[in-house]
Amino acid sequence: MKDICRKYVVVTGIVQGVGFRPFVYNAAMDNELKGWVKNTSEGVYIDLEGTPNSIELFLHTLRNEAPPLSKINNIAIEHREVRNYKEFSIEKSDDNDRVITLISPDVATCKECEMEIMNSKDRRFHYPFTNCTNCGPRFSIIKKLPYDRPMTTMEKFNMCPYCNEEYENPRDRRFHAQPNACESCGPRVYLTDRYGNEITTQDPIEEIKNLIKEGKIIAIKGLGGLHIACDGKNEETIKLLRERKSRPSKPFALMMKDIDTVKQYCLVNEIEENTLKGIKRPILLLDVKDNILPFSIAPNNNRLGVMLPYTPLHHLLFDDNIDVLVMTSANVSGLPIVYKNEEAVEKLGDIVDYFLLNNRGIHVPVDDSVARVILGEERIIRRSRGYAPMPIIINDIKETLAYGSHLKNTFCISKEQFAFLSQHMGDMDNLEAYRNYEYNVKHFKNLYNIKPEIIAYDMHPDLLLSNFAKKDEGKKIQVQHHHAHIVSCMIENEITEKVIGIAFDGTGFGTDGKIWGGEFLVCDYEDFERAGHLNYVKMAGGDSAVKEPWKMALGYLFKTYRDEVNTSIFTSIHEKNIKIILTMLKNNINSIETSSMGRFFDAVSALINLKMKVSFGGEAAINLEAISCDRERGIYNYEIDFVNETYVVNTDNIIKNIVEDIEKNIDKSIIGKRFHNTVIAFTLEMTKLIRSKHKINSVALSGGVFQNEILLKGLYEKLIENNFKVYIHKDIPCNDGGISIGQLVIANYKEKNMEE
Ligand code: ZN
Ligand code: ZN
Ligand code: FE
Repeated sequence: MKDICRKYVVVTGIVQGVGFRPFVYNAAMDNELKGWVKNTSEGVYIDLEGTPNSIELFLHTLRNEAPPLSKINNIAIEHREVRNYKEFSIEKSDDNDRVITLISPDVATCKECEMEIMNSKDRRFHYPFTNCTNCGPRFSIIKKLPYDRPMTTMEKFNMCPYCNEEYENPRDRRFHAQPNACESCGPRVYLTDRYGNEITTQDPIEEIKNLIKEGKIIAIKGLGGLHIACDGKNEETIKLLRERKSRPSKPFALMMKDIDTVKQYCLVNEIEENTLKGIKRPILLLDVKDNILPFSIAPNNNRLGVMLPYTPLHHLLFDDNIDVLVMTSANVSGLPIVYKNEEAVEKLGDIVDYFLLNNRGIHVPVDDSVARVILGEERIIRRSRGYAPMPIIINDIKETLAYGSHLKNTFCISKEQFAFLSQHMGDMDNLEAYRNYEYNVKHFKNLYNIKPEIIAYDMHPDLLLSNFAKKDEGKKIQVQHHHAHIVSCMIENEITEKVIGIAFDGTGFGTDGKIWGGEFLVCDYEDFERAGHLNYVKMAGGDSAVKEPWKMALGYLFKTYRDEVNTSIFTSIHEKNIKIILTMLKNNINSIETSSMGRFFDAVSALINLKMKVSFGGEAAINLEAISCDRERGIYNYEIDFVNETYVVNTDNIIKNIVEDIEKNIDKSIIGKRFHNTVIAFTLEMTKLIRSKHKINSVALSGGVFQNEILLKGLYEKLIENNFKVYIHKDIPCNDGGISIGQLVIANYKEKNMEE
């Protein structure tokens, strides 16, 4: 015998439920190694015997070719005495060992499966539910753990002998692929009219394509829910869809045939291309190349949200005549995504002409994710399909449920060191949204047997979620919204020191009872001090000022000019309405004060007559960014006051300058950019003042306003130039979708100190 040696390897990180053991098995077989592999609560244990050279090759594969969904934190290797194993095997986990099996997100169809469905000689030719160990549904179909077929919505389908053979063979790409299926044994698609009556046809997918070409609107059941789809090049159909959905201007996502098609319509760099083609397949926001596609897809926006097909069914929808589809989440405005066949007809029958349904159940609804590449990296905006429920590892936390934000909600729930950030839940404006939320919380609790000791929630006194949180069992801890934003950024950057947190967003309840949103916090994981903020401005009409930015603009004018407000700026608003709002401002009627940066953007957008009313959050600011002229370097005057040990940005001169520019008929694109430049300038100066006062050099940026690329890039670069250490978001959304993980961490730190 040649020199045989034995190595004992412990791999830690995200290595369970991600196809790690079959991967190890195959790598061991390829290198003729003996021994075994096993899951434990600590990680994956691998016992290996073979020549030193083949063990080296194995370790190289382990380090460099691990399954795409895994994330190795550490590989520990020990030398051990040779035992002369006869074979390599996959060992069962010990019964008394509590292994937390992580659930993989749903994964886009892999290249091999794609080739099979396009190959007329393959037995899976045109089969829309083709998948393998490397791809297909996971999170959306799992009812319970352990992850075995009977615990999924594939339970009712019995594998045929061919599928079963693949399933049993460790060397096959479909070894233990739980959703494995084929035409003869798996789920099927079917076509119905808008009332849910099945339409018999030889090939429902071919039929749907014909209907799309005719300009029909179709609901298509996909991976995590239904989409509403139509021809992305048919302006009339898209307009009709907007009408039927009562969705005047919020952009529709597109699905395009392939990467070459995307490049025809959008500017795509290498990182963007990889993100589009990757296994997570988010909707990626891309700059439009030429305005060839219908205006109605994304009115007044210079970006398009584009994704590539991510299920076999999607691939089959495209051909030489269909290369761009509108693919928007199927929901009724403000309500959760529709994901069950029964509810589809009931809820969407008035919006669509036909349904393409199937009999594979979706257990957990999962929306498409949204991302954008900024500063050379993919940054997540909506973390859902492809990403959730991958946990973030945080040490030393108790079982906690963090309720998250009111808008763009996600919740975060933890077991041991794993913090599971949920998929996108949407706005918590109604009971139906809450029911969906509750269902998903329960699902996570059941999966991992979690009994939260700590309940973390927002300090706003009258949010739907806060009221439910207060009734929940467990130690209740309130968290301030912007503190949660900054901590979510600190956690993902693994910062342990104190930082200057800059939280710019629309709305968050402050400790003084006012609405915050332009905040400079000096903070750590447990607490914060409000070191600075944008000056307070009245929001006349309360929440209605969010939907009607002109009211916010009037609030700013009133703050700046008091009794000498020149209302002639508002050419499109009725004088009577202006008077009402002015009276409210003067007499403090229904006029809550806000330091929100989002509202400041809204106000400027309305001042220059760009957006007086909005139909979705952030619309006015998005439009303002879109028109801003790149080259403009001008800047407005601003002041920083020092009041009660706090720095306050005084916006009066900014407003005066803007009004002067408007009176001089300066172009909107110039004013827009000057405004952006000004925000960057005063933010930099504020940060420098706070650095001197508090002796802190690290800065964390968070809050939805940082989805603005001009602002994020501009400020980031300026801060770096001024020798700050700057931390920004990447894997956790900077908007309210990231709030819950911040709440979870803060609540744990606060609780620890209560004990002591
Ligand atoms: Zn595959
Ligand atoms: Zn089969
Ligand atoms: Fe926020």
